[in-house]
Amino acid sequence: MKIAVFSSHAFEKNFLIAANAAYSYEMVFFEAALSPQTALLAKGFDCASCFVSDDLSAETLENLHRAGVKLIALRSAGYNNVDLEAAERWGITVVRVPAYSPHAVAEYAVALLLSLNRKTHRAAARVHEMNFSIEGLVGFDLFQKTVGVIGTGRIGTVFAKIMKGFGCRVLAYDIQPDPALAGEVEYTSLEQLYRNSDVISLHLPLLPETRHLIDEKAFQQMKPGAFLINTGRGGLIDTAALILALKRGRLGGAGLDVYEEEEGVFFCDLSATGLKDDVLARLLTFPQVMITSHQGFLTREALQNIAKSTLKNISDFESKNENPNQVFSKTHLVKSKLPGPAATLSRA
Ligand code: NAD
Repeated sequence: MKIAVFSSHAFEKNFLIAANAAYSYEMVFFEAALSPQTALLAKGFDCASCFVSDDLSAETLENLHRAGVKLIALRSAGYNNVDLEAAERWGITVVRVPAYSPHAVAEYAVALLLSLNRKTHRAAARVHEMNFSIEGLVGFDLFQKTVGVIGTGRIGTVFAKIMKGFGCRVLAYDIQPDPALAGEVEYTSLEQLYRNSDVISLHLPLLPETRHLIDEKAFQQMKPGAFLINTGRGGLIDTAALILALKRGRLGGAGLDVYEEEEGVFFCDLSATGLKDDVLARLLTFPQVMITSHQGFLTREALQNIAKSTLKNISDFESKNENPNQVFSKTHLVKSKLPGPAATLSRA
């Protein structure tokens, strides 16, 4: 097997090399993101391994097919960047890493919440400037506050349990409530969750039906001063409505690890060129907003698991083993009545 690793980052390279020791595949690392143009780099490779930010549109997939690629091994759980119908049309198998560390992302959501609430990032910056004033840094106790968790899958469950440990009341909403969590959280309607939560955290996939779940109406239903944390997907929030809510002073804080228009911005160093995205630039002007560049997954444990699972996925493909990590288009699932992973459509 020859593997072309696209969007290869220094932070993951050694984990992939270590995981490959058990297989000794020929692995070539390309820093370039996958796109219709760069797909041609994969000429002569059997597999393209892709990052969450890679473009796997129909055009890219057609070019990968022409290059001879038979397998897309995603180094992510999410696959909303993959045109699955096109992949099937070109006979390209798509595999992903559905679960690598729910703790990494859940703990990161907590980190965003704590920093934003207690303003530790601003406090540290002040102290480094020799400004030891603590004016304007007042936060609130999380103890006995109400936290709303939307999406109680792997990550949402861990987040809910951490919040319980802080002594919070946890409300939850999920289209498939988890009976095992019922004793710990109170499942409720979305509206009740919005109306009663001091903090709302998003842990559901981006799907056509969840796009802009948090819209102007949702912001109007939220408690004034509520905190919104999003480590899910940028498209879950209508950014224009978020900006309006911030301008109206309705939100106490927004901690965002994801953004609707990440492409070409997140994972890139734009410090010398600046931002072309005016919406993101506007968001960055709000002191109660904290944005990070999609790094919820960025722990050693998660990277190791991603690397191991990616190599195992590739090996299973080579050995023609059935693989629960294979993803299918909705059309394929309907036709074959498969209960495959796309039925739950987890995307990370
Ligand atoms: P999961 O599949 O285990 O859980 C998702 C939950 O969302 C499920 O319980 C599902 O029933 C629920 N859900 C689906 N559609 C819904 C809807 N319309 N309304 C309410 N609930 C709905 O997924 P997970 O592993 O917990 O990951 C959650 C999300 O976290 C991913 O989809 C991804 O977008 C994001 N993620 C982000 C990072 C990061 O680095 N920031 C890393 C991994 C995952």
